[in-house]
Amino acid sequence: MKLSYLTIVVPCYNEEDVFPDTVQKLSTIMNNLVLENLIHPQSKILFVDDGSSDSTWHLIETESKTNNYVTGVKLSHNSGHQNALIAGLETAKEYSDCVISIDADLQDDIHVIKQFVEKFHDGYDIVYGVRQKRDTDTFFKRTTAHMFYQIMRKMGIDLIPDHADFRLMSQRALYALSRYKEDNLFLRGIVPMIGFKSTCVLYDRKERLAGKSKYPLKKMLSFAFDGITSFSITPIRLVTFIGFLSVLISIAAGSYALYQELFGHTESGWTSLMISIWFIGGVQLMSIGLIGEYIGKIFKEVKRRPRYTIESDLFSTEKAKQIFIDSRKVIK
Ligand code: UDP
Ligand code: MG
Repeated sequence: MKLSYLTIVVPCYNEEDVFPDTVQKLSTIMNNLVLENLIHPQSKILFVDDGSSDSTWHLIETESKTNNYVTGVKLSHNSGHQNALIAGLETAKEYSDCVISIDADLQDDIHVIKQFVEKFHDGYDIVYGVRQKRDTDTFFKRTTAHMFYQIMRKMGIDLIPDHADFRLMSQRALYALSRYKEDNLFLRGIVPMIGFKSTCVLYDRKERLAGKSKYPLKKMLSFAFDGITSFSITPIRLVTFIGFLSVLISIAAGSYALYQELFGHTESGWTSLMISIWFIGGVQLMSIGLIGEYIGKIFKEVKRRPRYTIESDLFSTEKAKQIFIDSRKVIK
């Protein structure tokens, strides 16, 4: 059997606290997979430094000199988790048969990576890591996440519940993914749209190893909102519906006012007038705001700005060099 090249993509933003531990654990996993003949010994762990301001890149570079599994890509500035991830996937895809993405804090169980690879060998193109229970999360994060999945489903967005960005993708799935050029990137929504044969592997999520979560509430809300408005126009429909409803109500209120006017109670218009002005005003402002949100998205998309910029790429240089050396071996 031909051994397949695996690349594990790990986005890192100011992760100097967890890096030493992460590198050690992932290298052990790689080693085991190589020993079990599941992957090629030249398989890599690709750390994507998302413009960290601490020593993360320095650690990656230093480690790559001594650890054969470790390689890295450095983005020129902080581009956000999703963009760092796509940067890693796009860099890895050319020289990998399959790619696994995982967060640097290793909250996701690295011991199921073997199952991911086995599923890949069974012919699956996409393997989703799905959390069995969410008891390490705070009550708040759990309930909001649950609500989020429900809202998404109601709006017709196909998400795998309790799946974060811990997944395996085959090379052809990655090539399909890189044809989605949108700027407002929400990978969890896009990957199921690619199709291909896919399956799930269950695992338990752990606490963060060290360092702080880079997803405070504000970022989480904007992530959720982005997820919804990038995939669905249901919110705009809702606004239209509310607008329609308020027009109906004001017609009813108008008829009532007219009736009062005709039959002599002329002083009584003030309250209803005030109420309707505020009501309609509110609905209008809300609608304009929401429509503005979509126009903002269009504005961002039409600019077609690159999602990330790579400053240095140890991975591709190294792989290209390796291929060159290999080709020389054949000639001899
Ligand atoms: N991350 C990133 N760029 C950012 C924010 C986060 O690359 O701007 C990385 C981070 O280093 C980690 C992953 O994205 O590997 C997930 O972040 P975190 O663990 O803080 O999120 P949480 O698990 O709390 O949702
Ligand atoms: Mg985390």
